[in-house]
Amino acid sequence: MMRVNDRGINHILFDLDETLYPKELGLMAVVSQRINDYMRLRLGIPASQVPELRKRYYRRYGTTSRGLYLHHHLDAHDYLVYVHDLPVEEYLSPDPLLDEVLDGIEVEKAVFTNSPQEYVQRVLRALGVERHFDRIFDIYFLEQINKPDKRAYLKVIEALETDGQDCLILDDLARNLKPGKDLGMVTVLVGDGPKGSLWEKEEGVDFVIPKVTELGNILRIHPL
Ligand SMILES: [Mg+2]
Repeated sequence: MMRVNDRGINHILFDLDETLYPKELGLMAVVSQRINDYMRLRLGIPASQVPELRKRYYRRYGTTSRGLYLHHHLDAHDYLVYVHDLPVEEYLSPDPLLDEVLDGIEVEKAVFTNSPQEYVQRVLRALGVERHFDRIFDIYFLEQINKPDKRAYLKVIEALETDGQDCLILDDLARNLKPGKDLGMVTVLVGDGPKGSLWEKEEGVDFVIPKVTELGNILRIHPL
């Protein structure tokens, strides 16, 4: 098996949703409902068409919002505020184990997500891990060219003044790891992985861990 330390990793890129906290907490299910509401109430899309459109846009563009932006004149800012307007503290609580694991990793850490910065900060605060992240690369930084578009990864690498070989990336979706793998990153799939989803294929995945807190185990076996 590949050794992480052969790669000289100096940056770790963490996805946010359902990577830094488990899917079972239900936060994304609420966001998902709000996306449906937005499509119906703000864009006037008939409820019967919403699931099919979401699936199509997700497959084609990586997010529903990118499809809405390209095909329905979406006001991206209005959308992002609306779908993330929820009390994250009711779903998330401080995670001392995650705090400890992150504390033990002396490499620059960044959040790399298709979500907006203000929401990212609320999530990190609710988990009690805000202090560990040097940078947040959010949907505004990405200018709507979101994961898994390869340009998103190139933009992050450029901002970090590094290259793919020096990065480790974690995500709960295999398809968001593939472009990272293509750029030479070490890739870590967090969660159940492809077995849990019909939309995913296991491609470009170096390691699979059920929880982000097990990143410490990978790094102990394969020191940076
Ligand atoms: Mg995610």
